[in-house]
Amino acid sequence: MTRKAQLRRVQRALEQAYGRQRWWPARTQFEVILGAYLTQNTSWKNVERAVGNLRSAGKLSLGGVRGLRLQELEKLVRPSGYFRQKAARLKRFVEFLDARYDGSLTRMFGRARTSHAAMMGLRQELLELNGVGPETADSILLYAGGLPVFVVDAYTRRVLDRHGILPYSAPYEAVRRLFEQTFRGRNPAQTFNELHALYVSVGKTHCGRQAECDGCPLQPFLSPKQRARLASTPSAAKRQSA
Ligand code: SF4
Repeated sequence: MTRKAQLRRVQRALEQAYGRQRWWPARTQFEVILGAYLTQNTSWKNVERAVGNLRSAGKLSLGGVRGLRLQELEKLVRPSGYFRQKAARLKRFVEFLDARYDGSLTRMFGRARTSHAAMMGLRQELLELNGVGPETADSILLYAGGLPVFVVDAYTRRVLDRHGILPYSAPYEAVRRLFEQTFRGRNPAQTFNELHALYVSVGKTHCGRQAECDGCPLQPFLSPKQRARLASTPSAAKRQSA
């Protein structure tokens, strides 16, 4: 079976198990961008606390963050960890937006929507900002901009690796391209949005650092060899002896 066929089979099984996901848990484009920065190296719960602080202070907007002094922003985003670094990076993003797109997210995403080359141009601009790696850039493009790029995260990598589709160490761009070539449809942005959310769902419920394969919708796709390898992991051994 080809990799593309494997990915389609996984997609069907996850859709059947979890249904429509309707991500991302944010109300505005700016909140998505904020979340994409704040979620680095922390849990979503901590991001929510930082976002809650900004909301209570009436600063949960582009203008709000723009108008805050760096030290004030640091204080508000403190619950998300690495708060000095994150506050500085958020400020840098706002400076970039102001300088390059007159402070307008609509203008930034609007230009990127005109062609694939323009979208990749914006992706490159984001990647050049301090603290923006491919996952953050693609989360911004997909979830804030509604642009057709697939977000590759640790959950996705684990599933692909454990099912022998691509090794965990595969380059980010290779994984992204494989998904984008496999799921070209009429509405790729919506497909990528749903698909990424489905991988997060299976990752959170079954395929975390330790695989909990019992009851997982993807368990039937494991080969006997893969099952044996996963069964010998510490968590599975612990379950069996419990
Ligand atoms: S938990 Fe097991 S069956 Fe489920 S995706 Fe991970 S490796 Fe596959």
